[in-house]
Amino acid sequence: MPNHFNIDLTADGHVHTRLCGHADGAMKEYVEAALRAGLRKITFLEHLEVNIHTRRKSWLTTDDFAEYFRRGRQLQKEYRSRIDIGLGVEAGYNPQAIESLQQSLARYPWDTIGLSYHFYSLAGLHYNMVGRNRDHIAALKAHGLGRVAEDYFSGLIQALEHITCDKICHLDAVMRHVPAFKFNSSHLLLIDTLLESMQAKGVALEVNTAGFTILDHPHPCPQITKKAIRLSIPLVVGSDAHHPTQVGRFFDRLPDWFQSLRSRPKSPFQPDKFSQIRP
Ligand SMILES: [Zn+2]
Ligand SMILES: [Zn+2]
Repeated sequence: MPNHFNIDLTADGHVHTRLCGHADGAMKEYVEAALRAGLRKITFLEHLEVNIHTRRKSWLTTDDFAEYFRRGRQLQKEYRSRIDIGLGVEAGYNPQAIESLQQSLARYPWDTIGLSYHFYSLAGLHYNMVGRNRDHIAALKAHGLGRVAEDYFSGLIQALEHITCDKICHLDAVMRHVPAFKFNSSHLLLIDTLLESMQAKGVALEVNTAGFTILDHPHPCPQITKKAIRLSIPLVVGSDAHHPTQVGRFFDRLPDWFQSLRSRPKSPFQPDKFSQIRP
């Protein structure tokens, strides 16, 4: 579907399956859902994490990835004439395991690599910065959410130096389940640096429609997306589906949303989660 910013809304570039341990549905069910949604392409972006210590694993093991590629290749053949199927990865950054992550990524023939940063390390355990788990949020709060978000953005900037990737996923999702938390001016500067680095490296920005489940916009917020557009950073769309019914979710809202970006009056760069109040 053509639109103002040349974004392909017929391709869902970010879906999970039950292989990751926290999503429902087999790969085939996602492909069928994509066909029902009228999509031209679906890209699986399964979770790869290295050296993360949490109570519950939410990513694929080596065996899971073997199964992922085996099934994925079968489906690519089976659906060849009906839909394009991509086999990608959502690589979770871990500043303590950069080399292991590079090695794991080099092991597979990914169609696309999305870079995310999910887990924050505190006293030998990892806590999810983008999830809704209350215990994790409490631990991160105790450490200081301002500091966590600063480390999150610095981490992504550092990650871009070490990890070759095609896009950054849900860029502003850090502490998204703490509505009262706002970004401060240091976060803002880091976001600027991150976008400039993406521009320099030709890394795309994911417009992640899971944002619509908790906000009135996708990730990232309008101001960050507008800034990316000004920098000519390519935008790609993903639903971050964790259930087949979520494939292509909220894509129908995107033409109007992109239109609203265009028509908003010019204002200084100031993300929605920005305020001067928070540390
Ligand atoms: Zn993610
Ligand atoms: Zn995801």
